[in-house]
Amino acid sequence: MADCLCDQCSALCCRYFALPIDNPESRRQYDDIRWYLCHENVVVFIEEKQWYIGFMSRCKHLQSDNRCGIYETRPKICREYSTDNCDFHGGEYNFEQLFTSAEQLQLYADEQLALQRKSRRKKSARRPPRRLIALKPTLTLSVPPSNGNGNGNGNGNGNGHRISLPQLTR
Ligand code: SF4
Ligand code: SF4
Repeated sequence: MADCLCDQCSALCCRYFALPIDNPESRRQYDDIRWYLCHENVVVFIEEKQWYIGFMSRCKHLQSDNRCGIYETRPKICREYSTDNCDFHGGEYNFEQLFTSAEQLQLYADEQLALQRKSRRKKSARRPPRRLIALKPTLTLSVPPSNGNGNGNGNGNGNGHRISLPQLTR
């Protein structure tokens, strides 16, 4: 029996690398990811609600016997990687989604954007109607009395009838 799990493995973890990317929300962001997938040996996946881009590119230091050619000086990320739950246990990787082609991504994007629109429409239908304009009686005008005591130039004497006019307010 082999001492280390890696001795039984074809160095699966040395044949790609993946980086987190911003989760897309808009059509433009989905389109950028579609562009990534137009390239060879690129995959995109969602794991625990986080999006990643994966480059299926073999490490230059992987030797033909599947051993690391720079084992003593290998990068920290390689040192930190453990056989617990590594790629060898493939089945435990639970991608929510794996995209290997631009077309696949496009279909998913159309679906998600349609759902977003539907949910926005539902939310706005639930919102109570908003009064854009309220009529509020705030303006008062003085009108000269009709008994001829005015000064004749249209100015009242202050004892006129006060009437209220509605004013438009927001
Ligand atoms: S860490 Fe896992 S995937 Fe990487 S070489 Fe070892 S057994 Fe294979
Ligand atoms: S440096 Fe070594 S351990 Fe790291 S990915 Fe390359 S071959 Fe694998």
